[in-house]
Amino acid sequence: MEIRVADRVGFCPGVRRAFDLALHALSREKPVYFLGELVHNPQAIKMLEEKGGIMVTDHEDIPPFSLVVTRSHGLEKKTEEFLENHQVKIIDTTCPRVKRVQILAQELEKKGYRLVILGNPQHPEIRALLSFISQEAVVLDKKENWGRLKDLSPSEKIAVIEQTTFPREMKEQFIREGKDLFPHLNLEIFDTLCAETEMRQKDLVENIQLYGVNKVVVVGGKNSSNTRALFLTAQNWGVESLWIEKAEELEEKHWNKEDKILVVSGTSTPQFSVEEIIEKLKAKGAFFHERKDTNGGHNRENKCGEVHSI
Ligand code: SF4
Repeated sequence: MEIRVADRVGFCPGVRRAFDLALHALSREKPVYFLGELVHNPQAIKMLEEKGGIMVTDHEDIPPFSLVVTRSHGLEKKTEEFLENHQVKIIDTTCPRVKRVQILAQELEKKGYRLVILGNPQHPEIRALLSFISQEAVVLDKKENWGRLKDLSPSEKIAVIEQTTFPREMKEQFIREGKDLFPHLNLEIFDTLCAETEMRQKDLVENIQLYGVNKVVVVGGKNSSNTRALFLTAQNWGVESLWIEKAEELEEKHWNKEDKILVVSGTSTPQFSVEEIIEKLKAKGAFFHERKDTNGGHNRENKCGEVHSI
């Protein structure tokens, strides 16, 4: 059995920044409330709780005058207003890339565009984005919903933007087929995908093509969109894929000695979760391929503040 690890694993810059801000807040004040899962990892959440963090899912559970850390996905406007009205101090960890999409959407709206958003309407990032615009945007999460564009008028200027973690392949399919299906519509396509998630998907495909990987272990939360995109990408390439959150879920039945395994991770999975899995496979006799990248590191976690343009 051989194992390789994707070049980009562990936290992405946006989640790294959120986590660092959370630790800094906990070093100054206790308790600190966390509105929603800051990261999709039970061990990392436990660590925050041990340092004085209190996890809540409903903003109404946060007492007045307390301190709250929000998530990198952004905060809905009405939630922000509720917290401000209750004198809650907010540490807003919205990822700068997510923020830029919110600002772009507002600017496009001011310029008179009708917005079409490729993304999941229930995802916190999209819910936050929708709360900052006044129009009812059309949100399309899958091909089956593209037909909803038929209700738009040919006289409207239509801007298409995406959830930062929307799969690139689906966006390209939309551009190809959407314009054919609705040639009368005046669609302008903007690129708001996060480079980080794209690079992880590209890296996965390169590893499959270059090294004959036959099995992919995807590490990340079951409710993480970008982890799902990795899992689906591996499946689309016909490679057996296993989606797990932690090393304990990996069992003997999941591998055999001929396997060439690639380990990849979602953007809110800590580096240590990936390392635990590598150690478990190494302990079973797997040969581990060290992978050097062009930045002189290997299998590194991305550094805080490393922001690419949208
Ligand atoms: S995946 Fe991209 S947009 Fe989302 S938090 Fe990470 S860096 Fe920001």
